[in-house]
Amino acid sequence: MKTTIPTITLNNGIELPTIGLGVYRSSPEETVQAVRAALAAGYPMIDTAAAYGNEAEVGEGIRSSGTGRADVFLQTKLWISDYGFDSALHAFDRSTRKLGYETVDLYLLHQPMPDEFERTIAAWKAAERLLADGRARAIGVSNFSPAHLDRLLAGSAIVPAVNQVEVHPFFTQKPLSAVHEKLAITTQAWSPIGGVNRYYTQDPRPEDDPLRHPVITALAEKYGRTPAQIVLRWGIELGHSVIPKSVSPARIIENAGIFDFALSPQEIASIDALDTGRRGGPEPDSINTTAFPFRVED
Ligand code: NDP
Repeated sequence: MKTTIPTITLNNGIELPTIGLGVYRSSPEETVQAVRAALAAGYPMIDTAAAYGNEAEVGEGIRSSGTGRADVFLQTKLWISDYGFDSALHAFDRSTRKLGYETVDLYLLHQPMPDEFERTIAAWKAAERLLADGRARAIGVSNFSPAHLDRLLAGSAIVPAVNQVEVHPFFTQKPLSAVHEKLAITTQAWSPIGGVNRYYTQDPRPEDDPLRHPVITALAEKYGRTPAQIVLRWGIELGHSVIPKSVSPARIIENAGIFDFALSPQEIASIDALDTGRRGGPEPDSINTTAFPFRVED
């Protein structure tokens, strides 16, 4: 049964769904069926990136799903090797060609490049051009710290609509969310159930896995929900958009079953208190094309 998914109004008036399917580390074959399963389960949004190598399969999944393009919020990201004005426009054309659609709903700069910030600004100016031309309905950034946002705003005209960043109970990023609120930037949580701590092991230590923390499992028991549903509901209660990844049809359905219950303010605070201050992903200040030499192929 499809549920109506709430949206968040972005700073340019566009409605951002509160939940979408993530496809990082989904193989091309898995991606087609995961996208189809998500759209069938009522997900209104798919999050991919040029660097994930599965934009073509995201497009194929949408086209073969029976869901019209207008009913899908489609977002993708520009990889750092393509930062610069002309190269970013070229990379956008490449992404839309692979997706098989002329426009995207949200286009994100995947990372800041602190050592080459002028290229980051030039890429942002390209995103502003795409927004003006109607090829992207909204534009945003990902993995930007407050300092990176300051530098971007100092050199550009448009405030990002979204900053997509790592947020889960073990890395809550409260200070960053406070900055977002001041700037009217929406927080979109990647690894919303802490998947980044499980990338390289099927069996993470309990202290690395929010889904096994006793505060989470006790709430799951209380509400008759799964730990993933508790953690995702917490993200929704904080006003975030969440993009859990799964290639399992059963877990895809499970992860969207979070709009018919609520956590109390005390319960939200008890999850907030699990923050370790330790990120699972790379330190944004360390991102450059030497540390991350990957390039997206045409
Ligand atoms: P998630 O927090 O979404 O966790 C995904 C992992 O959890 C997978 O191993 C998945 O396995 C498993 N899983 C999914 N649902 C459940 C469930 N209900 N119970 C138990 N395990 C579950 O981590 P991600 O890092 O994938 O983040 C989500 C999305 O965010 C990415 O796919 C990508 O779109 C985006 N992202 C963006 C980044 C950026 O730099 N902007 C960086 C990283 C991610 P299985 O598939 O087998 O179900």
